[in-house]
Amino acid sequence: MDISSAKFECSAPDLDSCPDEALPEFAFIGRSNVGKSSLLNVLAGKDGLARVSPTPGFTKMINIFTMNKTWRLVDLPGYGFASGARKDSAKFNQAVVNYLKHRTNLCSVFALIESALPPQDIDLEFVEWLTRNAVPYVIVFTKADKVTPAEAQANMAAFMERIAGWFEVSPKTFTCSATTGNGRAELLGVIDELMKAIAAEAEAKPPAPPEVTPFRSVNQLARHNRKRRPDMNRPW
Ligand code: GDP
Repeated sequence: MDISSAKFECSAPDLDSCPDEALPEFAFIGRSNVGKSSLLNVLAGKDGLARVSPTPGFTKMINIFTMNKTWRLVDLPGYGFASGARKDSAKFNQAVVNYLKHRTNLCSVFALIESALPPQDIDLEFVEWLTRNAVPYVIVFTKADKVTPAEAQANMAAFMERIAGWFEVSPKTFTCSATTGNGRAELLGVIDELMKAIAAEAEAKPPAPPEVTPFRSVNQLARHNRKRRPDMNRPW
């Protein structure tokens, strides 16, 4: 997939402030300093798309970009940062939790994990949370150029070993480097594939009748939304 346009849509402080759910969304998230901003700039082919910040945890908003006028790239706040106001530095902030649980047009999360480090508890916790909440995700190991290939391999294998028991089929994994650009085509390929699957599914299905029943509770709404999520061959 080529990126022909990347347009900043908005910075949303919470789920309610996010734009309509008309376009499929692909969300990127990871521990602060995992290399998310750098990777997003490489993916978009546009420096400055996501701010490359020297201060961990600076970006606390849900930043949304419309790509190729057909899908949205969502830059979620990093988790687990230590600096900044204590109240804001909850491990996984509530806006992110709400977005991941209830955003009906969220097609896949790209969970970024640094390949230059051995498995970090905070990342394991986050991936476990995604799994428990049935959020569709793939794992993206970042900064593959930072250590030797053997070291990166060992770290990635150790991470996958720690989570192996949670699934019958392990999630898809990708390795990339914002420095070399390796992995870019593969990540855009995932988005392309899911977009095609969604288009095929939409074509096969007659349009749903308009929703008329009001929801009695947030939980009921969540259950309804989960059913409406496109079936995208969840990786577990
Ligand atoms: P974020 O906090 O997750 O958005 O991380 P940034 O993109 O701001 O990157 C954090 C630091 O890691 C910066 O100093 C980047 O230059 C560096 N970095 C990011 N990606 C890579 C990479 O692929 N390879 C290497 N060697 N360093 C990287």
